[in-house]
Amino acid sequence: MDAEFRELYQEIILEHSKSPRNFRRMEDATHKLEGRNPLCGDQYTIYLKIENGIIADISFEGSGCAISKASASVMTSVLKGKSIAEAKKLFEQFHDIVTGVKTTGDDTDISRKIAAFSGVAEYPVRIKCATLAWHAMRNSIEGVTNSVTTEEK
Ligand code: ZN
Repeated sequence: MDAEFRELYQEIILEHSKSPRNFRRMEDATHKLEGRNPLCGDQYTIYLKIENGIIADISFEGSGCAISKASASVMTSVLKGKSIAEAKKLFEQFHDIVTGVKTTGDDTDISRKIAAFSGVAEYPVRIKCATLAWHAMRNSIEGVTNSVTTEEK
């Protein structure tokens, strides 16, 4: 990745961690799941309102490092209005990016937001920060109701 892109991506992460989107509790959520990353101290609750297979609303609350917070924020902004199937596909896409399997996706707004986390692949300890909210979301739509942690697999 060249320096210019790297800077742009860092800006996206910084911006989302400073002013996270959809950072609120949701009282009428149909799905809710807490995710914890004890290695870093990241802890978030992901709220989803799923109607007819569509993510009508998604939000989160909690605390943690800049990467984990920015990741949760980006996730909520890209998943709102998506179907369950699309959400699972985006989970795979995001996972591939942060683990370095793929460096970029297609040139869409969503792909660019997700690609902001590609630098994380160089820091293995940060991968759990970046994927925490996504794992919680995925487990939640699959019906898991107990909290998930990065340290149980
Ligand atoms: Zn973290």
